[in-house]
Amino acid sequence: MSGPMSGRLAVVGLGPGDARQLTPEAAEVLAAADALYGYGPYLARVPPRAGQVRHASDNREEGARAAAALRHAAAGASAALVSGGDPGVFAMAAAVCGAIDMGPAEWRSIELVIVPGITAMLAVAARIGAPLGHDFCALSLSDNLKPWELIERRLDAAAAAGFVLALYNPVSRARPWQLAAAFDRLRRQLPAQTPVVFGRAVSRPDESIAVTTLGAADPALADMATLVIVGSSETRVIPRPGLAPLVYTPRAASGASA
Ligand code: SAH
Repeated sequence: MSGPMSGRLAVVGLGPGDARQLTPEAAEVLAAADALYGYGPYLARVPPRAGQVRHASDNREEGARAAAALRHAAAGASAALVSGGDPGVFAMAAAVCGAIDMGPAEWRSIELVIVPGITAMLAVAARIGAPLGHDFCALSLSDNLKPWELIERRLDAAAAAGFVLALYNPVSRARPWQLAAAFDRLRRQLPAQTPVVFGRAVSRPDESIAVTTLGAADPALADMATLVIVGSSETRVIPRPGLAPLVYTPRAASGASA
């Protein structure tokens, strides 16, 4: 081969779990890759193909995983790095951009393709109605990569501004108290009857959804596979006979009680 051996790196979103929620583009890019990189349980979702190499890694090794995939692509391969949901939402796309930003100049010649996926908040919202039907924001409650004080400031500001909140990474084994602290923080500003949705493992066989209120929300309902949506003062719950309630945030906001 003549010229620089610059390959290709695709950062691919796998969606929330169900194979039907993986886009045709993602399936095509995954099938075409010479090598797959990613967190083991995510890689396990990708159908095997003969001749394709797999490099499974631990969830915590984001930077090392990005660098390994970039080195492989720089050597001329077509590599794919997988993320759950969308790769740009609290996931590998920013880790790869960060590695390119800080890494060797040759990594800037790699063809980088980011393939979007259905992110958890959209999958959870679709199950329950339209809680994100008006203005909303997404926060990660993980304080691995930012101080807890910053998370509290953002919770305060989001609640004060009347946003519905989608809370990613509500708890983990290493972070047992953060969700309870976040609920306490939000209770200072939001009424006790504010709707709260716990969406766990949505689109997977062990999916469960619970609708409650901020006053009654039990942090123990959440685990690492749960996304929590906290409504705004406009968010409504419609009880339905024999059916799950519908949670929605109306298309129009008065701004009266935000
Ligand atoms: N890139 C992913 C998010 C990674 S952060 C995405 O776009 O969805 C990991 C967090 O995502 C989890 O702690 C949980 O809050 C949420 N999550 C991922 N998959 C989920 C699912 N199937 N159901 C509910 N929440 C999920």
